[in-house]
Amino acid sequence: MRSLSLIQQALRDGHSTCTELVHGYLEQIETNRHLNAFIEVWTEDVLQWAARTDAALAAGDTMPPLFGAVLSLKDNLCYAGHTVTASSKILEGFSAPYSATAVQRLLDAGAMFIGRTNCDQFGMGSSNENSVYGPVLNAADPQRVPGGSSGGAAVSVQTGACLAAIGSDTGGSVRQPAGFCGLWGFKPTYGAISRYGLIAYGSSFDQVGVIANNAHDIAQLTAVMAGADDFDSTAPEREPLISDFQLHLFSRQDLSSRKELSSRQGPKRFVFFEEMFDSPGLDAGVKQLGFEFLEKLKSAGHHVEAASFDLLDVIIPAYYVLTTAEASSNLARFDGIRYGYRSKGARNLEETYIMSRSEGFSNEVKRRILLGTFVLSSGYYDAYYGKAQQARRLIRDRVAEVLKTADAIVMPVAPGVAWKFGEKSADPVAMYLSDIYTVLANLCGMPALALPAGKHPENGMPVGMQLMAAPWSDGDLLALSAAL
Ligand code: GLN
Repeated sequence: MRSLSLIQQALRDGHSTCTELVHGYLEQIETNRHLNAFIEVWTEDVLQWAARTDAALAAGDTMPPLFGAVLSLKDNLCYAGHTVTASSKILEGFSAPYSATAVQRLLDAGAMFIGRTNCDQFGMGSSNENSVYGPVLNAADPQRVPGGSSGGAAVSVQTGACLAAIGSDTGGSVRQPAGFCGLWGFKPTYGAISRYGLIAYGSSFDQVGVIANNAHDIAQLTAVMAGADDFDSTAPEREPLISDFQLHLFSRQDLSSRKELSSRQGPKRFVFFEEMFDSPGLDAGVKQLGFEFLEKLKSAGHHVEAASFDLLDVIIPAYYVLTTAEASSNLARFDGIRYGYRSKGARNLEETYIMSRSEGFSNEVKRRILLGTFVLSSGYYDAYYGKAQQARRLIRDRVAEVLKTADAIVMPVAPGVAWKFGEKSADPVAMYLSDIYTVLANLCGMPALALPAGKHPENGMPVGMQLMAAPWSDGDLLALSAAL
């Protein structure tokens, strides 16, 4: 059962118990251990929760909205009393003193976490090859990466080890692994979900996101996590992100609710950027599936138009200058004194800083701290950081202009399918370039959804397409995609 409403129906009707459901997930985790998606499994916690849920159902209690929802948690979100390490040695043995707002809201709504998932260290990477726990394998082809940085999150859903995964997306970390594993992945509008308790990477880019099997589950989980939070000033007070009406339609998964969704919506306007589809870096099979996707939109009665976007070449440099700058500042707190790992060999304070950080961070994390420190240094600040800020503004304005008259922009999730292990590890720039289609939504602070668009004609790997929409139109975007 790969949808919350079906699970809840089965539990209510007594066709299944929550305990049986959890045992099913635990079996999947066991069977797929070799894929390395989970770093830790909270078996006792989740079985106790299942027993409580079954007892409440048997007693005829009013059930919370997310009862029966078993989730996995990326190793960069805090859950009080549980270990969290951002898959880095520097946080070895660190236990979260409090829960992230998103985590607490899910628990309060009746959901439960089954375990902690592997990821690229501090969310820095596109393949999950950069974790202190070793790589995660893609279940579609274990010779290939699952994507990153939320690779474990994607594989936890792909293998049926939980209903959905909670991850984070700074430049595609939810959408790209979802695309590489044939799933749905959603990054909400920047500020929609509080970042309190999410280990910071690039604070003006970071968002909590969901990987799931359908748009309905994403909508229900996102609606619970979203909303203002006193602990995060970038999460403002607003109308609900997803309206009650949309949630109501989402909660029914029958054909009539889908028809109601699409007929209420009528034809929509989709735009695609020619430069993105014509890019020489785009794999031919992905391109073909992209055009087929656009054709399907047309034959469903929607308007599809080409537009031009001449800032494609600026996207990756702007993203990697700004995120490394922010990361170099955010990661300064890991000093060998306050959190996790401390070098044994250090003889004084300065050596403690230097040796703990040298031994605790991976090469990729160090590369980014160095790059970020460089672009922020006086003398280079204006040339790099200042310029990148200007580029970000220009990019966002250009995209916002297009979205004034279009409902969504369509693009691939990534230029190719999941690659084989080691293929891009020696060349960081090649790895960075693979993020070209996903980082745009984070540069713009806009919501974006990855959805499965079929299998690659040659290698059979999953291919994802992406829909990006105007800020705070998350509910419309999800409703639209569910109706497609
Ligand atoms: N691959 C991108 C990076 O390495 C995005 C990662 C993320 O979204 N956390 O920065």
